[in-house]
Amino acid sequence: MNTVRPIPEAGAPILDVERVRRDFPVLHQEVHGRPLVYLDNAATAQKPRAVIEAVDRFYRRDNANVHRGVHTLSQRATAAYEGARETVRRFLNAADPREIVFVRGATEGINLVAQSFVRPRLRPGDEILVTEMEHHANIVPWQMVCEATGARLRVVPIDERGALDLEAFHRLLGERTRFLAVVHVSNALGTINPVAEMVAAARARGIPTLVDGAQAVPHMAVDVQALGCDFYAFSGHKVFGPTGIGALYGRLEVLESMPPWQGGGDMIRVVTFERTEYHDVPHRFEAGTPHIAGAVGLAAAIEYLEGIGMERITAWEQTLLRHATARLAEVPGLRIIGTAPEKAAVISFVVEGIHAHDLGTILDHEGVAVRAGHHCTMPVMDHFGVPATARASFAFYNTLEEADRLVAALHRARELFG
Ligand code: PLP
Repeated sequence: MNTVRPIPEAGAPILDVERVRRDFPVLHQEVHGRPLVYLDNAATAQKPRAVIEAVDRFYRRDNANVHRGVHTLSQRATAAYEGARETVRRFLNAADPREIVFVRGATEGINLVAQSFVRPRLRPGDEILVTEMEHHANIVPWQMVCEATGARLRVVPIDERGALDLEAFHRLLGERTRFLAVVHVSNALGTINPVAEMVAAARARGIPTLVDGAQAVPHMAVDVQALGCDFYAFSGHKVFGPTGIGALYGRLEVLESMPPWQGGGDMIRVVTFERTEYHDVPHRFEAGTPHIAGAVGLAAAIEYLEGIGMERITAWEQTLLRHATARLAEVPGLRIIGTAPEKAAVISFVVEGIHAHDLGTILDHEGVAVRAGHHCTMPVMDHFGVPATARASFAFYNTLEEADRLVAALHRARELFG
């Protein structure tokens, strides 16, 4: 057994993992009589006390509807909600808080762009470019608009490591391409895509772009101005905030060119039966009462991350990734799916002779929570010729010992099936 502990890269800021773990109440429990090892962070991440308390405080003290009342609680709720928008702006380094639209999550953000921005611009024969490693949330909305307009979906292939074939990308970026939608970090493979380079190539041809950042924002600092994309979508629950809230960044002039996609309260200025005048952005895209407490919780999550520092998080997770990858290589019959050189701490694998679902069940009995399945990326499974994988996805609160517990549990699974 490899007992050597990897040393964080020289100069990298050190994260005090034992200290941050104390901020997450859910981590301190036993499952099937073993201390919980939570390695399903790509599905949803755990919430620090700061988030739980912010949501609790909102409901205890400030709860009211936003933008509607002159009374004190409504003013407080509105200030908290709009303050959260500013916090998300800062997190993504957007230029203006009006560029942040609150949505239910990455899925809703992508659907908003598909229906409001892309669909009206498509003619039969036009093309939307995605990649083979997209989550279904960044495939199906584009198939829907293609079906409605006669446009075509084109797909950038991946190689045997699960990295994008960039030559193919440049070839596919053609005369008929009207939109590029690409995942920043793959939830199934961990691959970090060169999105800045891809966006720049698209922009050079006047092609607008969306980056699906659902799996990037928990792991790295994101700067939408540096990326140069027109849209960037993420989900709050994957970045240590509540479920049911997320954000869509859209460049101001692009958002301002878009019609609303849902109608209702809050998104209008004047309504008569003859004519309705829509609100300015971003409210034009936020019909109905929003998830106010969710936005408050998301802002608390972001402030918590800012307190630690994304650089520190990235550095620690890369240490975890290197350690876990090396230790998993010791398990006979284990194959890692996704070995791109640029990777986040998401490790998909299969073990010869054991179905991924059985692995997931055995690991659960050892207290280790991983995901087993297609991870909403069926084309990735098809590419690698597997029906499913097991996936260990790390967060900054995971430890090297937890990676070792995963490996020990996998050895046990092999004994059981041996
Ligand atoms: N995109 C990626 C890369 C994801 O991993 C996920 C969720 O797993 C989504 C989009 C969809 O996120 P949500 O279900 O929170 O809308």
